[in-house]
Amino acid sequence: MLGRVLLSLVLLMVAGRAYAAPELTIGCSPTSAQFTLEQVRALPTEAWKTVDPNAPFVDLAKAEWCRLQVSGADTLGAVVRFKVSSALIAPVATFYWPDVLRDDQGTQVGVETRSFGGARHPSVLVEARHTGQPIYLRFLTRSSPRGVLEAWGVSDFTARVRAEQSFEMAVMASMAVLGLMASLFAYQLGRRVLIYLCLWVISVIVLRVLESGLFTTWVSIEEDARRLLNTLSLTVAIAFSVVFSDRYLKLGDHFPRISRLLMALVLVLIGVGLLTVGQVTTHLRELYNALIILQFMLVGICALVLFHRGDEMARFFILGWSPVLVMSVVRTLFFLTPAPLPVWLEPLWQVTLLFAVFVLLLVTARATRDAEREMHVVRRAASHDALTGLANRASLFEALKSGMAKARTTRAPLSLLFLDLDHFKHVNDEHGHDVGDHCLRHFAATLQSRLRADDMLARLGGEEFVVLLPGVPLEHARKVSDDLRNVLSEHPLILGDLTCRMTVSVGVAALRDEDDAESLLKRADAAVYRAKAHGRDRTVLETVFDAPALSLR
Ligand code: GH3
Ligand code: MG
Ligand code: MG
Repeated sequence: MLGRVLLSLVLLMVAGRAYAAPELTIGCSPTSAQFTLEQVRALPTEAWKTVDPNAPFVDLAKAEWCRLQVSGADTLGAVVRFKVSSALIAPVATFYWPDVLRDDQGTQVGVETRSFGGARHPSVLVEARHTGQPIYLRFLTRSSPRGVLEAWGVSDFTARVRAEQSFEMAVMASMAVLGLMASLFAYQLGRRVLIYLCLWVISVIVLRVLESGLFTTWVSIEEDARRLLNTLSLTVAIAFSVVFSDRYLKLGDHFPRISRLLMALVLVLIGVGLLTVGQVTTHLRELYNALIILQFMLVGICALVLFHRGDEMARFFILGWSPVLVMSVVRTLFFLTPAPLPVWLEPLWQVTLLFAVFVLLLVTARATRDAEREMHVVRRAASHDALTGLANRASLFEALKSGMAKARTTRAPLSLLFLDLDHFKHVNDEHGHDVGDHCLRHFAATLQSRLRADDMLARLGGEEFVVLLPGVPLEHARKVSDDLRNVLSEHPLILGDLTCRMTVSVGVAALRDEDDAESLLKRADAAVYRAKAHGRDRTVLETVFDAPALSLR
């Protein structure tokens, strides 16, 4: 996917301009008085002020009308394109045909032509038979329109547009896929900050669709509706990016005043954006652009300060967002100056948008991984003993219940060993608590290594342990117990010069029909008590006297 973006970016850099470009002559109307089309047509050629097509588009901006003439087009004709450089798209321009345009019967077929090519670059096709004749371009906005007029041979133009569109499509498709994945993450994690970012992605996609005019061939929208949507999606995109940055960097905690100022600026931006929907004046547009720059600069400075303080979130933010912030500020600065946008700016800006979404995805993936790890740690802490890593009392009881249920349905035996280390208090008293801890870990590991996968060793608390032996009858459980005690005596804990020998007293009980978890454990505990009384370091089986009173059923 990203490979496709890079490939189409390379194509974009080389496409078009294979042949000599047609020559474009531009004349500006004398004043900005409101001319009608008829009056403009009647103007003598000398009245039009000639403008250098390569010069910054500043003089032209003051005029209301332009008179364009194309010569030297290829055999198919030429395309004249007005590339707007402004964040806000005003109803910039409408092209008018020369009045010589007639249909086959020789009647005039209307003078206004529909331009194509999206809001950001309205274009008009000049067929070969009409080259050399004047086309009139009217600026429909009270603000001075900024941009450049370009003339292309039709073949070059087709190649160029194809490259632009495939790049645009690759960027948008990648953004949509990454945005979708990110929103799934956001949904799964329930983190609101990510939802702001997903909303930002969606508004950027809408904005790019409208600006590029990619889908205008399939879906035709009224010019006014498109402008409204354009302004709204741009404003919403900027608002979401600022709110996201604010929440992501936790500016409310770090710089509460700046955070409040940013939120106020977002509201002002929305207000100015809505005002410009009615009429884009130069002042409003410049105010809008200045607001964008101010907000992005504030966010950027806060991120840098936080980064300097070693904030981890700021590091990620700077990695992913600084290219977008820098490019957005550069782009908006160009909108504020009369200079035309450099050709590299738009594609590069889009690549930075894509990069930001990509980083967002990495950040969300990281957040998901961290959340999962945390959950795992919490779950493990709840069910395992911290010192030995064995199952704890709570999970022993759970395993005991399910083991008993299984034994009853399969009519298989189930035995339980209750182990209590002998004179463990002495170990602590003689060698210290740390050695005691070592002993407990050693005991757990030694026993664990001898048990089958189905058996369960749990630490009930202190120096008391339980082994569950599914499928093992009472007599066989005694053998298992003795085997464990032998292993323990053969493998004392050696800590430097210290050899720590442990012995254990074991009580064994087997599951009976009337048992619950408590009664089974209690019988095994009673057997341990007898083992202790008989001198420790031994295995003792439960006796009939340990049985609860037989019920007379
Ligand atoms: P007996 O043979 O009668 O079982 O004697 P005992 O000393 O093992 O029994 P008692 O119940 O009197 O003492 C248990 C000792 O286990 C007391 C306590 O210091 C020690 N102990 C319990 N939990 C831990 C632990 O987590 N670490 C260490 N180092 N010692 C522990
Ligand atoms: Mg004890
Ligand atoms: Mg003990």
